[in-house]
Amino acid sequence: MDTAALQDLATAISKTSRIVSLTGAGISVASGIPDFRSEGGLWTRYDPSLYASYSRFVEDPSYFWEMHIEVMHLIDKARPNPAHRALAHLEEGGLLKGVITQNIDGLHQDAGCSTVYELHGTNRTCSCIACGRQYPTREIAAHMFSFQKKDLIRKMRKGDEIPTCECGGWIKPDVILFGEKMPYETVIAAEELASSCELLLVIGTSLNVQPAASLPFTTKHSGGSIAIINREPTILDRIADHMVLGMAEEILPDLVKRVGSTI
Ligand code: NAD
Repeated sequence: MDTAALQDLATAISKTSRIVSLTGAGISVASGIPDFRSEGGLWTRYDPSLYASYSRFVEDPSYFWEMHIEVMHLIDKARPNPAHRALAHLEEGGLLKGVITQNIDGLHQDAGCSTVYELHGTNRTCSCIACGRQYPTREIAAHMFSFQKKDLIRKMRKGDEIPTCECGGWIKPDVILFGEKMPYETVIAAEELASSCELLLVIGTSLNVQPAASLPFTTKHSGGSIAIINREPTILDRIADHMVLGMAEEILPDLVKRVGSTI
């Protein structure tokens, strides 16, 4: 970890009263949910255009469920890690005004963050794609987990055991698939937050996915600064005012300690 860069960031934070965080899959890796793009990640095994596409889900949900059962198992076991807790601490101290996340795992809320904008939806609930009736994912997951995965997928390919609403429509987790409409109000709220902060703390995201990847520009154009904490360089390092390379679960608790006296 680059302690000089970390101390610079801590000093900048201590002169700030309005921070917003933008997080991605990397912040939850230490909670046992691997990111999708890194080696061995889900998307190196499942082609997202087949397994995570809304139009494909509508044609045949079995492909989506084949991949998503793995995601549900990971999220079911995951608990917040020190990085999630450090952000909750910054919120409690009044410095952090909100978290904008691309994650669907709900771990920011579990850690105690109360203002969380989930750009890609949430795995906590499912909805019927026909009538909109909502179901807790844990109910759907409990039924699915009672099968061996390969037996379940064999049944689903034949049209059996696909989670179905009382109205006959298919039930889908409230996560945003490729080709699906973004949650408009959440995106607007995230843009407002990004444009009104003094510092955008970007954590554990490759910044490859829109609209998240545009938010650092929103902050920059509004006169705010950008800090990026990531295991590897990102495509927006060139516009960052602070860059700390390393693991979020190690860097964030250290950062909170360094700014601790000011919150
Ligand atoms: P990404 O996979 O594109 O990028 C993750 C980044 O985090 C990478 O640059 C990686 O180097 C970095 N990283 C990994 N471990 C880290 C650690 N311990 N500390 C700091 N950085 C670390 O993820 P993304 O940009 O969020 O986009 C992926 C998409 O997949 C999003 O749409 C998201 O919804 C979805 N996703 C969500 C979850 C989740 O909810 N936990 C998990 C995987 C993927």
